[in-house]
Amino acid sequence: MTNDSLDRRADALARHSYYEASVARPTHDDPMLDSTLEADVCVIGAGFAGLSVALECRARGLSVVVLDAHRPGWGASGRNGGQMIAGFAKDEELERQLGTEGARAAWALSEDGVTLVRERIERYGIDCDFTQGYLTVATRDKRVPDLRAWMDAASTRWGYQHLSWLERDAIRTRIASERYLAGVYDARSGHLHPLKYCLGLAAAARAEGAQLFAHSPVVSVERGARPVVRTPKGEVRCRFVVTCGNATLEGVLPRSIEARIAPIASYIIATEPLGKARADALIAQREAICDNNFFLDYFRLSADHRVLFGGRASSSGASADQLSGDIRARMLMVFPQLADVKTDYAWGGFVDVTRNRTPDFGAIDPNFYYVQGFSGHGVALTGIAGRVVASAIAGERGAFDLFAQLRHARFPGGPAMRRPALAIGMFYHRVRELLAA
Ligand SMILES: Cc1cc2nc3c(=O)[nH]c(=O)nc-3n(C[C@H](O)[C@H](O)[C@H](O)COP(=O)(O)OP(=O)(O)OC[C@H]3O[C@@H](n4cnc5c(N)ncnc54)[C@H](O)[C@@H]3O)c2cc1C
Repeated sequence: MTNDSLDRRADALARHSYYEASVARPTHDDPMLDSTLEADVCVIGAGFAGLSVALECRARGLSVVVLDAHRPGWGASGRNGGQMIAGFAKDEELERQLGTEGARAAWALSEDGVTLVRERIERYGIDCDFTQGYLTVATRDKRVPDLRAWMDAASTRWGYQHLSWLERDAIRTRIASERYLAGVYDARSGHLHPLKYCLGLAAAARAEGAQLFAHSPVVSVERGARPVVRTPKGEVRCRFVVTCGNATLEGVLPRSIEARIAPIASYIIATEPLGKARADALIAQREAICDNNFFLDYFRLSADHRVLFGGRASSSGASADQLSGDIRARMLMVFPQLADVKTDYAWGGFVDVTRNRTPDFGAIDPNFYYVQGFSGHGVALTGIAGRVVASAIAGERGAFDLFAQLRHARFPGGPAMRRPALAIGMFYHRVRELLAA
C-alpha cells in the first residue's frame, strides 16, 4: 500500500512545479482500474522505469498493464533536475563489488541508457527540450584530484570515451562563476524537461498497446505461478509483476527489500525567464552542471531561459517553500549576478537512494521483479532498467544478473525509522564536508 504521509508530503512538494506549469497534460487522466484484467506483465508505477519496462515488454510481444497510484510523471520522473547522465552515483563502489570487467559492462549499459533516451525522443517525436552536454565541476581544492581520478578511471578502466578535462580558466569561459576550480566535460550526457519526456513515454507506451491506469494504487500482490495484483477496485492476473514504485512504494515488496532504499527530499527552484542573451552569458554552451560534493548543487538553463537550480538534499520534511530561500542563496553563491532575479517556482520530490548509491535491481520470485535505488541517476538508468528486466522476462538474464549481483545493506529500522536514521547519516556527511572545506 502506498504510504499516505509520504504521498501527501510529495504532493505538497510538487505544488509549485515549473514542470507541471510548462506541460500540457492530456485532458483526461488514464482510467482507474475497476475490473479484473489478464496480462502477461503487470507493471507497478508509471514513471520512467515503469514506462520503460512497458515499452520494452511490448517490443517483445508481451501484453502489459501499468498501474499508477496517481498518474504518469507524478513521482520523481516528473520533478527531477533533468540531468541525463551516463554512469552511476558511486562508480568506485560499483567497481569494488563487480570488479573492473563488471564495472566496464555496467558502464556500457549506462551509456546504452543515454543512447536509449535519445532514440526514444527521436522515435516517438518527444518534444522535451533535449540539450547535449554535461559538466561535473569541483568547488574545493581537495576535490579536484578526486574529479581527475574519476575521469581517468571512467576513460580507461570503465571504457567511457566522451570525457575531457577543463582547467579553471576553461571552466570560466563556460560558466560565468568564480566558484569552480576544474571540471570534466561529458559530450554524450545532457539534459531535458523530465515531465515532457515522461508524458512522451506514457503516450508511446499507450500507442504501443500497453494499458495504463491512473489513481489505481496497488494494495497487495498475491504471489505464485500466476500473481494477482490488487487495487482498491480491481485486479490484474498476470504472469510477471515488476515494481517500479520508487521511493513512495510501501507495503508491496517485502520489508527487507523496501528497507534498502530511503526517500531523500531534494528541491529545485526556477527563476523568472532571463532572456536568451542573459542566460547564454551564464552558461555559454548550455550544459547541465553538477558539482562533486556530497551535498551537491545541480543546475541548468531551461528552454525558456530560466535557471533551474537544485540541491540541498534533506530528509527533514521541510516544505519546498521553506527551502527555496536556501536554494536561492546557494544559487547566488554560484551566480551573485542574479541577485535582482525573481524565483518563480520551487518544488521537490523524493530521490530513491540506496546506502551504497548503486542501483538495486532484483527478483523476489522468478516472476516478480523490482527496480529501485537509482540514487540520483535515474533519468538515463531507468531506461536501461526497463530493458534489462524485459530481457530477463524474455529469458535473457545476462544484464539483469550483472546488476542483481550488487549487494545492498538495509537502512536501519522499519519504515518509520528509516527517515530519522537517514537524517542523522546525512547530518554526519554534512559535518564531514564542512570540516573538509
Ligand atoms: C528533485 C529530484 C531531482 C532529481 N534529479 C535527477 C537528475 O537530475 N538526474 C537523474 O538522473 N536523476 C534525478 N533524480 C532521480 C530520478 O528522478 C529518479 O531516479 C527516477 O525518476 C526514478 O524513476 P521511477 O520510475 O523509478 O520512479 P518515479 O518517477 O518516482 O515513479 C514511481 C511511480 O510509482 C507510483 N507508485 C508508488 N507506489 C505505488 C503503488 N502502491 N501502486 C501504484 N503505483 C505506485 C507513483 O505514483 C509514481 O508515479 C532526481 C529526483 C528528484 C526527486
